[in-house]
Amino acid sequence: MEYPTLFTAGTRLFNPFGGGSPEGVTIHEAGHQFWYALVGNNEFEYAWLDEGLNTFSTSRTYNVAYGEEQYVKRYFKPPGTDMRGFFPLMLDGIRYSGSFWQERMNGYRLAATSDSQAIPTYMYFPSTGSKLSYSKTALWLATLENYLGWDTLQAILSTFFERWKFRHPKPEDFFAVAEEVADQDLDWFFDQVYRAAEEFDYAIESVKSKSAAVEGMVDREGELEYVAGPADDDADDAGGVYRTEVVVRRVGGGIFPVDVLMVFEDGEEVRESWDGRYRWRKFVEERPSKLSYAVVDPDFILLLDTNRTNNSRLRESQATLPAVKWTTRWMLWLQDFLATFGFFV
Ligand SMILES: [Zn+2]
Repeated sequence: MEYPTLFTAGTRLFNPFGGGSPEGVTIHEAGHQFWYALVGNNEFEYAWLDEGLNTFSTSRTYNVAYGEEQYVKRYFKPPGTDMRGFFPLMLDGIRYSGSFWQERMNGYRLAATSDSQAIPTYMYFPSTGSKLSYSKTALWLATLENYLGWDTLQAILSTFFERWKFRHPKPEDFFAVAEEVADQDLDWFFDQVYRAAEEFDYAIESVKSKSAAVEGMVDREGELEYVAGPADDDADDAGGVYRTEVVVRRVGGGIFPVDVLMVFEDGEEVRESWDGRYRWRKFVEERPSKLSYAVVDPDFILLLDTNRTNNSRLRESQATLPAVKWTTRWMLWLQDFLATFGFFV
């Protein structure tokens, strides 16, 4: 907990190093000496100005000092309490890539359209306060970092700090500094993430590759060759040229420029930029190879995208893989059960 010139932090027994505790909370509470103490915002009305900026700077600081935070699963929770289990297991492979990312999205997603961030914090819909103040701000700051680059975002934060230390900034003061330092209009962004409650979600709606109807010179591994063929599924008839169509859809109300990556079976990649404004857009490619898969926002720029699972699509379904996995798992349990049964009988 933060107090002027003083803060407290908690810890527990058996904390594996790398799991983020108690380092994270220590950095966070110390961070409040900057965001709200030196830059004296009104946390009653604009909690996001200290909690949000502080959540973001906590993650950045943690990552610089300790690297990526790893997921810790705790077991043996005392029943009937809200204590966490005392036995920790750190799962090395599961990392919070900049802890504002996965961890923060889990909370924010539930409150994405619940309230505009711009109304006074004390009027937020109950239970959404922390999701909007902490998680949403961290996600849109991280999105802005990806969009403008760290050098620019760092300059925005340090300019805001220098200009408003020992003073009382309001949200519009932060936005004015951001536009001045970035040297561009960012109203389109703040209008959506702050003054409204737009939800961002881009999806690959459909992908297909069909044999193309072509007549003309076709590039086959560097050799030009004349072909004339009908459009049927046998690619050889069409000179081995496939017409690939990828439809990208803006599912959410929020608008953000996105890249679309198309990866073909021969390993070739095509990357297109889309302003993301209209509800959908179709990308067409004619190439000597079928599409393997397509991804919208392949670099994870838009961290506010509330559904990442629809951001990519394989042309050929791999639906059998989960079936194989679950069949194997059930067979293992069955084998275990029979072995145990056999032991006692
Ligand atoms: Zn805090």
